[in-house]
Parts: sequence; structure tokens; C-alpha cells
Amino acid sequence: MYLKSIEVHGFKSFANKIVLDFHNGITGIVGPNGSGKSNVSDAVRWVLGEQRAKQLRGSSMQDVIFAGTENRKPLSYAYVAITLDNSDHMLDIDFKEVTVARRVYRSGESEYLINGSPCRLKDVQELFYDTGIGKEGYSIIGQGQIERILNGRPEERRELFDEAAGIVKYKRRKVAAQKK
Ligand code: ATP
Ligand code: MG
Repeated sequence: MYLKSIEVHGFKSFANKIVLDFHNGITGIVGPNGSGKSNVSDAVRWVLGEQRAKQLRGSSMQDVIFAGTENRKPLSYAYVAITLDNSDHMLDIDFKEVTVARRVYRSGESEYLINGSPCRLKDVQELFYDTGIGKEGYSIIGQGQIERILNGRPEERRELFDEAAGIVKYKRRKVAAQKK
């Protein structure tokens, strides 16, 4: 499984619709300060269901919507879609390619889509449990994160091992079953 592409439209500095294509290998993103490199990884965090504005370097969730510039009007929504190659079926879904998308409007209305079908945040989370990709996964290692892992509480470190061992799904289901 690997990340094939990221589509952004109206997300942070990406006013125009842009598609970034990746290959199964190493890709570097380079550019001057403030050109939007970190916004690319923010887009991936966001589409995976990040709910904390601070994690996206904003103060409110609406801050992810293109806010306009001197000669360009603000946009009314932000949209991000990531497409993953799933020919090895690492994701438990019957598609060779999986596209996960999220859209949010200034009004606060929002939606998630998996391969074009509207779904809940929970469905997106469940799709990525135990793959290391979810927003709590280790597929995005942010600045200072290694230090936080090393200095963190043992319970927090345990969560990382659970994810790598592939047992998060079962733990969540157990909690859900016990609530019923
Ligand atoms: P550095 O090399 O300094 O880390 P970078 O390439 O990672 O820079 P980013 O932090 O990704 O840059 O991009 C910052 C830019 O994104 C700023 O110019 C900021 O104004 C712009 N930006 C962030 N949110 C929005 C928004 N909602 N609307 C418009 N522009 C935005
Ligand atoms: Mg940066």
C-alpha cells in the first residue's frame, strides 16, 4: 500500500484545485519558507480525521479554509482527498484503490467520503486502525514527536505498540461492546 495522490482544493494556501501525484518510493517536497510544504502534511492529517485545530496549526477548524489574499477572494469550503494504492489489500476494503475525502464549509457543515460514498468519521477511523496510517498512527512523524514518544507516559507508548501489533481494532470493539 502506498500514497498515490493528494488532491487539495480550498485547503489552507491551496486555493486552486491541485493534484499531487506520488510514486511508490521516496518523494521530497521542497520550496521556500511559507510556500505550503507543511500544509501538504496538514492536509493528510486533516483528511484522516484530525479534529484538533492546534494539530493543524490553526486556532479554529475553519482556519483550514482558504482565507483569501490581496487579490483573491476567500473560498467557502476546503476539500482534501487522498488516494491509496490498495492492491495488496492492507486496507480491509474490496477495492484496489481507496480514496478518502473530507470537505468542510464555513457554516461548519462537513462530510467524509470513502470512494465517493458519504460515510462517518468513524468509518474512516476504522478503515485505518492497525495500519499505522490513522491520525493517531505513526505514518506522519511531526516535529518533536519522537521526543514526545520517548518522554511520554507508558500508556501512550503502549498505544503505539498496539497499533503496530494490529490489536487496536479489537480493543475498540471490546470497549464498544462493554458499553452496550
Ligand atoms: P516553512 O519552510 O517555513 O516550514 P512551509 O513551506 O512549510 O514553510 P506552510 O507552513 O505550509 O509553509 O505554509 C504557510 C503559508 O500558508 C502561509 O503563507 C499562510 O499564510 C498560508 N496559509 C495557511 N492557512 C491559510 C488559509 N486558511 N488561507 C490562506 N493561506 C493560508
Ligand atoms: Mg513547514
